[in-house]
Amino acid sequence: MTDAPAATRPALDRLTDKSLCRQDAYVNGCWVGGSGARSAVRNPANRAMLAEVAGLTAPEAAASVEAAAVAFEMWRRTSAFERAKRLRAWFEAIMAAADDLAVLITAENGKPQKEAKGEVVYGAQFVEWCAEQAKRIEGDVLPSPFAGARTFALREPVGVVAAIAPWNFPLAMVTRKVAPALAAGCAVTLKPAPETPLTALALAALAERAELPKGLFNVVTGEASVIGPAIVEHAQTRMIAFTGSTATGKLLMRQAAEGVRKVALELGGDAPFVVFPDADLEAAADAIMASRFRCSGQTCVSANRIIAVGEIGEPLLAALEARVAKLKVGDGFAPGVEQGPLIHDRAVARVGGLVLAVKGEGGRVAVGGKALPELGGSFYAPTLIALQGASPTLRGAEIFGPVAVLSRAKDEAEALAMANDTPYGLAAYAFTRDAGRVFRLIEGLDYGMVGINIAGLGHASAPFGGVKQSGLGREGGRFGVEEFLEIKFAAIGGL
Ligand code: ADP
Repeated sequence: MTDAPAATRPALDRLTDKSLCRQDAYVNGCWVGGSGARSAVRNPANRAMLAEVAGLTAPEAAASVEAAAVAFEMWRRTSAFERAKRLRAWFEAIMAAADDLAVLITAENGKPQKEAKGEVVYGAQFVEWCAEQAKRIEGDVLPSPFAGARTFALREPVGVVAAIAPWNFPLAMVTRKVAPALAAGCAVTLKPAPETPLTALALAALAERAELPKGLFNVVTGEASVIGPAIVEHAQTRMIAFTGSTATGKLLMRQAAEGVRKVALELGGDAPFVVFPDADLEAAADAIMASRFRCSGQTCVSANRIIAVGEIGEPLLAALEARVAKLKVGDGFAPGVEQGPLIHDRAVARVGGLVLAVKGEGGRVAVGGKALPELGGSFYAPTLIALQGASPTLRGAEIFGPVAVLSRAKDEAEALAMANDTPYGLAAYAFTRDAGRVFRLIEGLDYGMVGINIAGLGHASAPFGGVKQSGLGREGGRFGVEEFLEIKFAAIGGL
């Protein structure tokens, strides 16, 4: 089901507080125009220009690290209670502006309003949780082998963090890095994705309102190949926190190696979603829809390979077919729309290429299978493809689009082997009601996160992250705060 183009009203007219739409970068508490070329931010639903953000030069981006280094020296000495208070104020400012933030997210990312509102609440929870956790960063008193000596393990902030965020969650991928970093006592320079800088800049405006000290949270915009190295390779940067593609993650890891900087990397996923014959079929189909089609399939934990075991194959295909065919596609601001556009036309072309390749492997298109240029933006039809075995094309290739591919496996052993046959290891899902199998799967799936009979894995308290080429480190919960802390050992003798 599709809707006619809904570009009836400029997207940002919906903002109640227009001052949240910032086009300049935010460095050391000032809004900076930058001396490089400005770049357009476009609405992927209709390609209309939303804003032109500042293009910082390398020295201008480097200045944000220098400002962060000064702010860090002050911030690390504030009390944990003060840091908690400031983070709490930022959380409250975000929640007070929730509707406007959701407008910015839909405008620049394309996801439907309902999802955008959900992202604001989800993303804000990291700020709230980290405000609380800031007061719970503790050390240890250790036994010493020497009589009379005292030994301690202290937790100290890493220092200045260069954070780099993707476009699929323009708010949550920012707060999931910045909030734990600030809670730990670090200062941050953030580079948002060029497709979605407006939400990040609005978060900076809200941090300013919450009286976060200047220099603690900077947002730099401009050419990634210019400002990226300027902040990542800066002598005063101590850590890189990144979410994005595995290819860019590897590049950043190499850049970090020179200064032996700490890295936290959330990279690609290739999530298997295995459905066993004893599963609750309707619940499994609903969960696949939620996992596969959220943000039009553009998430790193989306079900990339659906594996139906044994006789559940046909009924699962039918249940998915009915659901996929009903999805309403259109402008994310239009009422009832469940599927927005992809982020840009390159993404549409890439997804089209993958669909073609899977068809070439014997895949049968049950629903969709084509771009929807008639909608006036970067749209691809929600698609369902049925395959017999595994798809060689999709082994280690993220679909990152609204395309569900259902393969078959004969038994648990084959399904597990298929599920693990990938260089990635972020999220894996399975639906089964067999208690023994639940434990075999949790232990046997080579992934950082496993969801059994559930598709939602991100919570403020959960350690989100992957193994193998899906990354290093965890975001969320106390684990996420730990990433921004170093352990200092102190030994005192002879007192
Ligand atoms: P995608 O191709 O889906 O945009 P990327 O991994 O390229 O995924 O992008 C994620 C983030 O990494 C974005 O903010 C992007 O601008 C940034 N990025 C891309 N290349 C570089 C680079 N060389 N240095 C620093 N950041 C980069």
